[in-house]
Amino acid sequence: MTTVESALRADIVEVGRRMYDRRFTASNDGNISVRLGSDRLLMTPKSVCKGFMTPDMMCITDLAGKKLQGDRDPSTEMLMHLEVYRQRPDVQAVVHAHPPVATGFAVAGIPLDRPVLAEVLTTLGSIPIAEYATPSTQELPEAVRKYIKAHDGMLLANHGALTVGSDVFAAYYKMETIEHFATISFTARLLGRENLIAREEVLRLQELRGTYGIKAPAPICPDPADAAMASGPAGALFDESGAAICQVVPAPEGGGLRLVPDSLDSTAGGVIGENDGDREIRLTYRQLSALIRDAVRSVRRD
Ligand SMILES: [Zn+2]
Repeated sequence: MTTVESALRADIVEVGRRMYDRRFTASNDGNISVRLGSDRLLMTPKSVCKGFMTPDMMCITDLAGKKLQGDRDPSTEMLMHLEVYRQRPDVQAVVHAHPPVATGFAVAGIPLDRPVLAEVLTTLGSIPIAEYATPSTQELPEAVRKYIKAHDGMLLANHGALTVGSDVFAAYYKMETIEHFATISFTARLLGRENLIAREEVLRLQELRGTYGIKAPAPICPDPADAAMASGPAGALFDESGAAICQVVPAPEGGGLRLVPDSLDSTAGGVIGENDGDREIRLTYRQLSALIRDAVRSVRRD
């Protein structure tokens, strides 16, 4: 065994231990893999607790998933890992876990895409939700394919989270960032408001990626409505194969707050319920002027 391979085995053991320690996984949940040269992967085996692995437990597979070495079978989520390596030649490692707060957002169907924390904007951009798919089936890689080209981290609906990186620690730290961000976002929502970072500042933060040498797979799109209108519905955000090409972070123009309940947010596809008539909502000037403009137009038509 080369020194590189034994170091990678030790790194996977250490990341597994941290994931279990931080309760990102329970029981035998979660899986970790890393590229071993250009045509092989080192991967956690199925049915072991990630907190108590030893270096000899790992499997070696080729990029098609054929086991080349190891006493145990590779992770049941191997198909998802293989899809990531196929779509992202730059990615060296993949981490999957079920961190409870982030997974709560994945269960509630709430993506972590609001411009709230500068370090999340500069690193991950937005954290979308891949559609629900049965774990360990071919459905899961298909759901992941939609977002993986443009994102280094995503939630998996009703399941967990997935992160990728230039090495196994980089991928793991993104998992920590997602869970930390989810916890902060959850707290802010419990407190009743999230003050959003304005669009101009979001763009400034994006420029910092260059300054700090952060390699993001896609740019941030702070105004999805405008981008979509410019080239037809959703035309600017996905390529012809349906894969996302930017990190959508809906950011308000100018300073000010934006706290529109999801039930009134047209992008969430919600409807106003019977008991919502007296609820307070807050609109940005932009949203308010759009409403007034529409009202004036309909009066003129009458
Ligand atoms: Zn899982």
